[in-house]
Amino acid sequence: MKVVSVNNITKSYKGVEALKGISFEVEKGEIFGIIGPDGAGKTSLFRILTTLLLADSGTAVVDGNDVITDYKQIRRKVGYMPGRFSLYQDLTVEENLHIFATLFGTTIKENYHLVEAIYSQIEPFKDRKAGALSGGMKQKLALSCALIHEPVVLFLDEPTTGVDPVSRKELWDVLKDLKHRGVTILVSTPYMDEANMCDRIALIQDGAFLKIDTPDQIKANYDQILWAVRGKEMFRLLKDLRSNKHIIASHAFGDSHHVTIQKETEKMGKSFNKEDLKTYLKEKNHTEIEIEPIEATIEDCFMELIH
Ligand code: ADP
Ligand code: MG
Repeated sequence: MKVVSVNNITKSYKGVEALKGISFEVEKGEIFGIIGPDGAGKTSLFRILTTLLLADSGTAVVDGNDVITDYKQIRRKVGYMPGRFSLYQDLTVEENLHIFATLFGTTIKENYHLVEAIYSQIEPFKDRKAGALSGGMKQKLALSCALIHEPVVLFLDEPTTGVDPVSRKELWDVLKDLKHRGVTILVSTPYMDEANMCDRIALIQDGAFLKIDTPDQIKANYDQILWAVRGKEMFRLLKDLRSNKHIIASHAFGDSHHVTIQKETEKMGKSFNKEDLKTYLKEKNHTEIEIEPIEATIEDCFMELIH
């Protein structure tokens, strides 16, 4: 069953085309990730789907309700966790949750079971002002507030930005749990590695989806020759990799450079192999060179798609 159907949504701000005709569907109980860098259009899309912003054209239906004509119904049944400023900083943890419960005609007591797994972790600090919480605790409170009215669809806009790695992991565990309880989740993130936690993802750049598929399928479709290259002088190494004509692209990636090699073509002759690259780098006086073929990550796929 489709819980979210989006058809050709566009949105421009003065001179900026933030969304250039976005279409996709999300099934009930799916974790659907919208993955892309700052400025890609993620927040605009979430604000349109939660009826806080009007699209210029296109249609969007959330749990059978149109975002324009049925906005009241949508507001009652979705949970939205905006990227920033979603909490009342001067109110306590408990007061924040109380306000959200009251807005939706419920109480913390009545729906405690919905938020227990996550809220119990911050409950010891229930009298602390929200503004004084750490990043991870703020996100837990914001998620509790978005969940207290038992939403059918949960929209989480960059829930892990500025959050420590342990809290990030805990947040994804909570999302898995919610999914098993039938909640449909749309989540955005600029962290490409988090794509693997989603059932399906859309890679977004400059207001357009580059690809929609499962993370595994996107990686399986990558058909370039990809190597991880390390050396003693990583910065100079990147420059020299980029100036080799057999190399299509090189990107710094953690402790190595990911390098895409030109495949064998009539023009270029036989394909470049590891020994050829080693020789080239030695001629440029590089030392401690390590080269290994690797499987593509989602980030490699993204880089290839925007190339
Ligand atoms: P993301 O959440 O992926 O960072 P946004 O939806 O916030 O993307 O922004 C998409 C584009 O629209 C960016 O170029 C951004 O600068 C622009 N934009 C967003 N909101 C406004 C606004 N209120 N006025 C003008 N431009 C905006
Ligand atoms: Mg944003």
